[in-house]
Amino acid sequence: MTPYFSYQQDQLCVDDLPLVDIAQRYGTPCYVYSHAALTAAYREFAEAFKSREHLICYAVKANPSLAILNLFARLGAGFDIVSGGELQRVLAAGGAANKVVFSGVGKSAAEMKLALEAEILCFNVESAAELERLNEVAGSLGRVAPISLRVNPNVDAKTHPYISTGLKKNKFGVAYDEARALYRRAAALPNIRVTGMDCHIGSQLTEVSPFVAAAEKVLALADQLAEDGIVLEHLDLGGGLGICYNDETPPSIAEYAQALLAALAGRSERLIFEPGRRLVGNAGVLLTTIEYLKQGEEKSFALVDAAMNDLMRPALYDAYHAIQPVVSRSDVATAIYEVVGPVCETGDFIGHDRELAVAAGDVLAVMSAGAYGMSMSSNYNTRPRAAEVLVREGEAHLIRERETVRSLYANERVV
Ligand SMILES: *Cc1c(COP(=O)(O)O)cnc(C)c1O
Repeated sequence: MTPYFSYQQDQLCVDDLPLVDIAQRYGTPCYVYSHAALTAAYREFAEAFKSREHLICYAVKANPSLAILNLFARLGAGFDIVSGGELQRVLAAGGAANKVVFSGVGKSAAEMKLALEAEILCFNVESAAELERLNEVAGSLGRVAPISLRVNPNVDAKTHPYISTGLKKNKFGVAYDEARALYRRAAALPNIRVTGMDCHIGSQLTEVSPFVAAAEKVLALADQLAEDGIVLEHLDLGGGLGICYNDETPPSIAEYAQALLAALAGRSERLIFEPGRRLVGNAGVLLTTIEYLKQGEEKSFALVDAAMNDLMRPALYDAYHAIQPVVSRSDVATAIYEVVGPVCETGDFIGHDRELAVAAGDVLAVMSAGAYGMSMSSNYNTRPRAAEVLVREGEAHLIRERETVRSLYANERVV
């Protein structure tokens, strides 16, 4: 657990504010984020790399809430986007287009146009076909597109296969052995300007060594490009630094920075990073109320009002999130529960085999839910998406209203 969410006597609090009060005021399910935790995570990252010119491009998809984007923009962050929609969000939140890098394997011509007109910092190009299309789109607008190639260093990130992206078999990036030739092609295209190199090998990495291995391959390729007369202004080393959900021991940001800075000693390129999860994951919780306790034939169930549509990570990756009562109690017996939602899928669980002393009506906090929680939520089972609250200096602010059912079918027609 982070120091930003902690018990004061029997109450789980954020900034001295009991989470149970937030649940009462805004209802559940409800995401709650700590302004102090978000700020501290960003500052820790910036501090660790302060000896080098760098730009931290927060990966919007981890949590795209306008209030969170605005918070990072005020701290000086840039943004890593993966869609035109995310670019519009960044701009709406007050982010600067000239600090935006655009990743993703399937950029449409319309998205390219949007990003070119906004004058973003860099397109992270992931294939030969994308490079040609970008050149055409830029040409039709009379513009020149700044690009990096996202190279696939074929490094094992040693993470969950669904979030490992830097292996030869993955769909991401340009094959390492083909990148040099594609850079030469890029350098020859009239509406493309080569500015950097990019790699991102996966998410929730808990070791430093794959990052260093990837950086070394990036540097080796950058040296080959220099022989070809292609000089890079920046190196984008991606995101992916993991957090502690349960018993993982990811490197500290300082350890990660130290290892990378050692590998990059003597280089003059500006550095770009694309952290997502590390900046927001431990800064948020999902509050949910127990509707019923149910004794099954083999298991006891705590049926809660949050479900896989609110927090998909357990169903998708069998991910672990700690679950804490927001008011701890000693007047009921502890039991082992399956913490499950109301959605009609056996995969709809929040946690397996959790030891809890709880009763119906109690509120639980699903911890470390700030990243890939709200952003992956859906309306499955016609469930309106949760409210979001940001707590700053002890005060709760509603940053996203709970959806209404009406809004869910507002764009539908019967025939
Ligand atoms: C998702 C993603 C990130 C962020 O990954 P985290 O593990 O959340 O840090 C960064 N860059 C790219 C290209 C991504 O797709």
